[in-house]
Amino acid sequence: MTILDGKALAAKIKEETAKTTAALAAEGKRQPCLAVILVGEDPASQIYVRNKHNDCVTTGIKSLMHTLPKDITEDELLSLIDKLNADDTVDGILVQLPLPKHLNEEKVTERISVNKDVDAFSAANVGLITLGKAGFKPCTPAGIMRLLEEYGIDIKGKECVVVGRSNIVGKPMALLLLAAGGTVTVCHTKTADLSFHTKRADILIAAAGKADLIRGDMIKEGAVIVDVGMNRKDGKLCGDVNFEECVPKASYITPVPGGVGPMTRAMLLENTLTAYKFSK
Ligand code: NAP
Repeated sequence: MTILDGKALAAKIKEETAKTTAALAAEGKRQPCLAVILVGEDPASQIYVRNKHNDCVTTGIKSLMHTLPKDITEDELLSLIDKLNADDTVDGILVQLPLPKHLNEEKVTERISVNKDVDAFSAANVGLITLGKAGFKPCTPAGIMRLLEEYGIDIKGKECVVVGRSNIVGKPMALLLLAAGGTVTVCHTKTADLSFHTKRADILIAAAGKADLIRGDMIKEGAVIVDVGMNRKDGKLCGDVNFEECVPKASYITPVPGGVGPMTRAMLLENTLTAYKFSK
C-alpha cells in the first residue's frame, strides 16, 4: 500500500511556482497577481483565505486581499469584481464561498472574467471542461488528477466511482476522469445501493462530506482511494473514508490531512500562473 502524499507533491509544485516567478522577476517582468475577496467573518473562510495569501507570498505571487463587511450590497461587490476584471495587473480573481445569504453566489461567480476565473466555477469554464477544451480546471479535481499522475496511476479503462455530485468537486471530477479514459459512475444521496458501486471501483473518489461513509467492506482489494472529505470527528479533522479499515485493502490511499487539501491549494497557484499567461 502506498500513501498518496499530497503534501509532498504540493511542496514540489510550490517550489516550481517560486522558480517561475523568480525567473519572471529576473527578466524584469510583472509579478503574477491573485485577488481574493472575502465577505464577512466566517472563521473557516478566514483560515482558507489566509492560507491562500500565505501560499502566494511564499511563491512570489502578489496577493491582493479584499476583506469586505458582511452587509456589503451585491452591487458594491459586483463593481469591485468589474474593477478587478478591468485591471491588467490582476491575473486571477477568487471570491471565497460561501457568501452571506443576501448575495447571489451564481451571479457573483459569473461576473468574474472567464480568463481570470482561477477557481473555474463559472459556466463558461465548466463548459470548456465538458468539451475537453483548455481553460481552468477546478482546483480540487485538478489536484487529484495531478496526484494520480504523479504516482503513475493509469485511468484508462478503469472503473472510477465518484461519491458526490457537487458543482465544485463531484461533477468536474467525473468529467476529468471521463476525459482521461475512465468508466465513470457518480453516486449521491439518491443512489440506491452505494456499496454496490464503491465495491466495483478501481479508483474511488469520496467527496460527500460525511465522516466514515466509506468503510473497509465497501471497497475492493487493490483499489485506489482518494478522500476529499474534510469533516470533524471528536474535534479532529477526518475525511469520508475510514482510513484504518481501508488501508489494508487499498493499493494507494490519500491521508486526511495531507492528501487532497494541499493539492487544492497548489492548483490555485498553477491556475494563477495560467491566468498570467492568458494576460500576455
Ligand atoms: P457538497 O456540496 O455538500 O456535496 C456533497 C455531495 O455528496 C452531494 O452531491 C451529496 O449528494 C453527496 N452525498 C452526501 N452524503 C452522501 C451519502 N451519504 N451517500 C452518497 N452521497 C452523499 O460538498 P462538496 O463541496 O462537494 O465537498 C464535499 C467534501 O469535500 C466536504 O467534506 C468538503 O469539506 C470537502 N472538500 C475538500 C476540499 C479539499 O481541498 N480537500 C475541497 C472541497 C471540498 P446530493 O447531491 O444528493 O445531496
